[in-house]
Amino acid sequence: MTITDDFAENFDRCLDCGVAAWRQREGDRLVHEDFYVHDRLWDSACPDDDVEEWFAAGTKFRGGRFVMCVACFEKRLGRRLVRGDFTVPPQDMFGVPPSERLVSLWEDGAGERT
Ligand SMILES: [Zn+2]
Repeated sequence: MTITDDFAENFDRCLDCGVAAWRQREGDRLVHEDFYVHDRLWDSACPDDDVEEWFAAGTKFRGGRFVMCVACFEKRLGRRLVRGDFTVPPQDMFGVPPSERLVSLWEDGAGERT
């Protein structure tokens, strides 16, 4: 296995449970559970993460070094995620569509304010 294959297989693995968080099966569909939450919320649940900053095409990006699936993030947090926790709608993420669970977390809190 080459380094590239290894990366393609593991880049989206949840740190805690090892699931491929961005490539989950839901019936016949391939779906993602990629999510972005407010920095402080992420830091409170993932104090073991470091935030990286980098520039690309003149824009500054920030991101953590590891991936969590929704279930493990909620376990660390001690509660369910609600719409106000997310910084990006799940439907706006690239690639495959979001899972029904992720969409329902977003839609459940549709009336809430951030
Ligand atoms: Zn997990």
